[in-house]
Amino acid sequence: MKKRVVSLLLAGLMLVGAVGCGNSGGNGSSAASSGAASSSAAKDKYVIATDTAFAPFEYEDKDGKRVGIDMDLLEAIAKDQGFKYEIKALGFDASLQAVEAGQADGMIAGMSITEDRKKKFDFSESYYNVPVTIAVKADSDIKSIEDIKGKQVAVKKGTTGATYAESIKDQYSLKITVYDDSPTMYQAIVTGNEVACFEDYPVMAYAIKTNSNLKLKVVESVKAMETPYGFAVKKGQNAELIEKFNAGLANIKKNGVFDEIINRYTK
Ligand code: GLN
Repeated sequence: MKKRVVSLLLAGLMLVGAVGCGNSGGNGSSAASSGAASSSAAKDKYVIATDTAFAPFEYEDKDGKRVGIDMDLLEAIAKDQGFKYEIKALGFDASLQAVEAGQADGMIAGMSITEDRKKKFDFSESYYNVPVTIAVKADSDIKSIEDIKGKQVAVKKGTTGATYAESIKDQYSLKITVYDDSPTMYQAIVTGNEVACFEDYPVMAYAIKTNSNLKLKVVESVKAMETPYGFAVKKGQNAELIEKFNAGLANIKKNGVFDEIINRYTK
């Protein structure tokens, strides 16, 4: 009996150990723990939330390593500025919630800088620009947004794609279903549960290019929904982290590391 308790305890300790040695400089797994407080003073280690599967910005590679433009940018910026962080891959909407609740110090998740979000978040300088696109089944007859009138469409929780779909819902008589993550949303179109989805263009294009089983195509990019991506913290909190991010971003743009990272995932 006693022995069992000890081994359980040991197993628990090992788990804590595995989580604890996450990363201090990026590329680690999505680790738990280490609560983010909300003062504005510099911290030993920041907790940064991100999306689960949003390639080429953040995703797990075949070795289970968390990679992508956002992950590599943060790693390079942290190195340049000498700060430590830990990644929590929570999903997009959950990341928004975690930052708002003070459970994460910041987030980098292909997050669009919007006027509405500026009420709750402070953003870094932007590092990428993307339009929202509409994607459908590869063999679909749908050619433009006009053809999705009255149809069943999929969006991802908390995203600008979801906001856009809501904004045209009445005009196009859309029936909207909300999904938690991008892969599940794409799959719903493949299976025919949904007719179209709204997604950031480079992410949709990357998924189609890299996954031959994903028989989808991009129909139309919504220029009006072009937004810049930024790193975010809770409004009024962690101002020094935004400063460091901006300073590091400027440095890696100057020394070529920024372009190297973008090219690594877009060439
Ligand atoms: N750029 C979109 C947004 O900010 C989608 C982000 C995401 O799905 N990770 O809402």
